[in-house]
Amino acid sequence: MVDMPSLNILGHKTCTVCHLRSTCTQVVPGEGADPSQASIAFIGEAPGQGEDVQGIPFVGDAGKLLKGIVFDGMGIDLRRCFFSNVYHCRPPGNRIELAEGSLCPTIWLPAELKRLPQLKVIVALGRTALTYFRPETATQPMQRLASRDSRWPDPMYGPHWVVGAFHPAAALHAGVNEGEREGNIILVSLVGSIQRALYYLDGVPFYEED
Ligand code: URA
Repeated sequence: MVDMPSLNILGHKTCTVCHLRSTCTQVVPGEGADPSQASIAFIGEAPGQGEDVQGIPFVGDAGKLLKGIVFDGMGIDLRRCFFSNVYHCRPPGNRIELAEGSLCPTIWLPAELKRLPQLKVIVALGRTALTYFRPETATQPMQRLASRDSRWPDPMYGPHWVVGAFHPAAALHAGVNEGEREGNIILVSLVGSIQRALYYLDGVPFYEED
């Protein structure tokens, strides 16, 4: 597992602005090896159990799958990457509907993204993240949103792209580790989305140089 400092800006860790903080263990800020260089942001839903315990996003099974693709599989330069979530506190039992009314998405994620001066592409992992960036997609099928046509110039944060992707947890739930066909299909789609994201990083040296 790669080691990255968290972007604990503006006192995330002490945030108590919404109801989610009273049931989680701790706030989980986004992380990136070098936010000043990060050009691709992977945005998920909310911390799960492992993230809640460790205070770091994407350290559980879904995160290991994602980072395995990004770093081991695709060899993407660590310094180009940033990882965060729409919600920064774990909803009870991972029930995302219980996050409704949280102020987190309007405070912390925008604050983090604004501190990534080189940001060019956001990979929105799963329905919650996609709907956050593109509310009009809420009723569209994930297969379509995660296809090669599901990319948009982002009106909210400026001149970069939002790429739709399946959440890695969806591949796990569909049995990718057990060799289930549906799980493999979701995994291939996720890899394809990340490849599309790389394509939008025109002109940015993306892979580690020897
Ligand atoms: N799932 C997410 O959406 N985010 C995490 O950080 C971990 C699991």
